[in-house]
Amino acid sequence: MEEYTKEILLPRDEIQQRVRELALEISKDYEGKELILVGILNGVIFFFTDLVRNLHIPIKLDFIRAASYGAGTESSGTIRMSKDVEIDIEGQHVILVEDIVDTGLTLSKIKEKLLERGPKSVKICVLIDKRERRQTQVPIDYCGFHIEEGFIVGYGLDFNERYRDLADIFVLKEKEPSN
Ligand code: 5GP
Repeated sequence: MEEYTKEILLPRDEIQQRVRELALEISKDYEGKELILVGILNGVIFFFTDLVRNLHIPIKLDFIRAASYGAGTESSGTIRMSKDVEIDIEGQHVILVEDIVDTGLTLSKIKEKLLERGPKSVKICVLIDKRERRQTQVPIDYCGFHIEEGFIVGYGLDFNERYRDLADIFVLKEKEPSN
């Protein structure tokens, strides 16, 4: 039984256009430098792939897996790292790539951990900056879209592992009771 409905927020063309713009900006900023892009699994998969394919500079890529959400839509506030970076990032420029930033806890914790390994720099690139529940002021260096509130699915983002495969981004809403 479906308890939620989806309302379109960002159509695929708009997402693709913005991702190309971000890739261009990053390519310009890191021209002539060595860059490692680190994606935070799983939600980042499509954003990461599209971003990387639109870059005009040579890069290395790696992934981290962290979870701050359980099965619901509320942040648990605790970060679990189940996969770490495998490339040596010491003395390297790194961009952490994330699908969405909400409280900011996940990104600030991961950035902290990466900084302990002595990289030359660590910047952050997110597709969506959601400001509703920000708890920590983590600087977002590259941002696709700003939204104020709502729970978002599609283009890699899930709700209980569903909806990741959708090419557009939707806001998930609880269905009105029908009686
Ligand atoms: P934060 O630690 O900034 O609160 O949350 C970051 C993580 O929470 C994201 O990587 C994502 O997995 C999840 N998250 C936050 N907001 C949303 C949302 O609107 N939709 C989905 N699907 N996940 C979200």
